[in-house]
Amino acid sequence: MGHRFARVVTNPTRPWKNWAGTYRCSPTRIESPSTERQIVAIVRSSVERGERVKVIGSGHSFTDIACTNGVMIRLDNYNQVLSVDRGAATVTAQSGITLLQLSEAIAHIGLAMENMGDIGYQTISGAISTATHGTGERFGNISSQVVGLSLITANGDVRHCSPDKDADVFKAAQSGLGALGVLSTVTLKCVPAYNLRSVQEPHLVDELLEQFDELCASSDHFEFFWWPHTDLAQAISNTRTQDPPLKSERRTGVRAYVNDIVVENYAFGVVQRAAQVRRSWIPSLAGFTAKTLTRKVMADRSDRIFANQRLVRFAEMEYAVPRDQLIPAFRDVRTMIERAGLLISFPVEVRAVAADDIPLSPAYGRETGYIAVHVFNKFQYEPYFREVEAIMDAHDGRPHWGKLHFQTAETLRPRYPMWDRFLAVRDRLDPNRRFGNSYLNRVLS
Ligand SMILES: Cc1cc2nc3c(=O)[nH]c(=O)nc-3n(C[C@H](O)[C@H](O)[C@H](O)COP(=O)(O)OP(=O)(O)OC[C@H]3O[C@@H](n4cnc5c(N)ncnc54)[C@H](O)[C@@H]3O)c2cc1C
Repeated sequence: MGHRFARVVTNPTRPWKNWAGTYRCSPTRIESPSTERQIVAIVRSSVERGERVKVIGSGHSFTDIACTNGVMIRLDNYNQVLSVDRGAATVTAQSGITLLQLSEAIAHIGLAMENMGDIGYQTISGAISTATHGTGERFGNISSQVVGLSLITANGDVRHCSPDKDADVFKAAQSGLGALGVLSTVTLKCVPAYNLRSVQEPHLVDELLEQFDELCASSDHFEFFWWPHTDLAQAISNTRTQDPPLKSERRTGVRAYVNDIVVENYAFGVVQRAAQVRRSWIPSLAGFTAKTLTRKVMADRSDRIFANQRLVRFAEMEYAVPRDQLIPAFRDVRTMIERAGLLISFPVEVRAVAADDIPLSPAYGRETGYIAVHVFNKFQYEPYFREVEAIMDAHDGRPHWGKLHFQTAETLRPRYPMWDRFLAVRDRLDPNRRFGNSYLNRVLS
């Protein structure tokens, strides 16, 4: 579907930084291919010259996972839906398509992604490379929706992989950290289009902790955001439905945009800037913010409810812990914030996802709970995140690959039963680490 003129745009000097502003790098040049053939040619010629190659998605990872001092390949011109199999409910797209672009394209043919995270700006390849996830104990992460992919390896070969073909490469590349080659196309298993009815309401966080298992079981997609220094959290329950949204609950239109996006983000931004003026105001600001939380009911097409706009930039760390460790780990974070006297102006997010069988997925082999902590991007994140990481270590946590953490290959290896299998695939496909960078040196070695 859709045809573009083949063009490759080269920009030799532009420096690059990620969305959060946590990392910058200076690639030797930035290439923007629009065909698979061009990507193959870029990989081949770069490897011949002894250069390193890194593909960048939308730059929404908080880590330096996408940074390079070699050749950077952007995929903005490589983002078309290629084919749809209505019977099998699968869609194949070029890897640079964003989740929002993909959702929009397939909505018109009655399909949707099975689940999504909080935003939709990520490319499909960036999202699966870091095992991006949403919430819902019956749903896996986005990598688990992948049923086929094609991968351009360091020698310029294009490998077409699926659970039945080149299966070890397929499993590794389902969440490959960008370490195996360039994902060229991705085939996703979709579901019939559905709407979501979203109920958001403030609760005492202790009540949510007590009832967490029941709330997850009774809602398709349950999560909550707790405001440090308060007893309050905003609970979000999203229920899948085929019912058309009531007009009063629809999220589309100018009014909804102004209410949901502009006002919420603006108010939140004002709070963060006030916190910047005087850090000691943070507990009072948090108390004020938590008290302004209200009940809100929205209904709309699934991707419009899942995907939010985040206009206030922040740094984030997120850990996956075994589901039965989720509430104890959360309680430890809460206690630590008060004990350490930290002043935290951003909420803590708590979610649940299903287990999967993807070697480097943080949900590999276990029902999983996720705890995410955030810091306004004008503040230092390290003291808080180091404390949180120590707690997650004690609860057998595995870090989100796209979010800040301080782990190394040595500390990560024991947490992943399939670690050596992944490394064996990497050694075979990229023995000279042409797709390497400093982040991969640290986490995979
Ligand atoms: C505001 C915000 C909200 C977020 N919400 C969530 C959330 O709800 N849930 C969650 O799990 N995560 C979330 N994230 C994290 C985000 O989903 C991941 O970091 C994701 O990887 C970003 O996708 P990207 O396209 O920006 O990839 P990038 O960050 O650009 O790249 C990530 C990795 O993918 C590799 N890559 C990209 N394309 C290819 C390709 N074609 N071939 C090979 N490798 C490739 C890159 O080389 C890099 O290693 C959020 C991030 C932000 C900034």
